[in-house]
Amino acid sequence: MNAHDDVARFRADDDARIVAASFACPVCLGLDAAARLVLVPDDSEVECSCSGCATEWSVAVDAAQVLRLVLHPPVAPDDAPLRMLPPRTPGAPWSRPRAA
Ligand SMILES: [Zn+2]
Repeated sequence: MNAHDDVARFRADDDARIVAASFACPVCLGLDAAARLVLVPDDSEVECSCSGCATEWSVAVDAAQVLRLVLHPPVAPDDAPLRMLPPRTPGAPWSRPRAA
């Protein structure tokens, strides 16, 4: 199990602004961050990076929260400036470089 800096506190059916607030910067409380979902069975997390102060942190997410972030990410630029980057799946057979 990985160590996480925080745990996401939103429900799968919450408003996009609530979802984005779960990934607010822990230092400057800025919402303008880049976030990448890292998919690991039973231990997924979101790696975050603040645009304002360059702080990096991670937030643990459960299966329902992963589903919400994949199917309906908070992308409204005015209400939720969080930028969701394409997910990463470390160690998955389909993510390895292909043999030549
Ligand atoms: Zn910050």
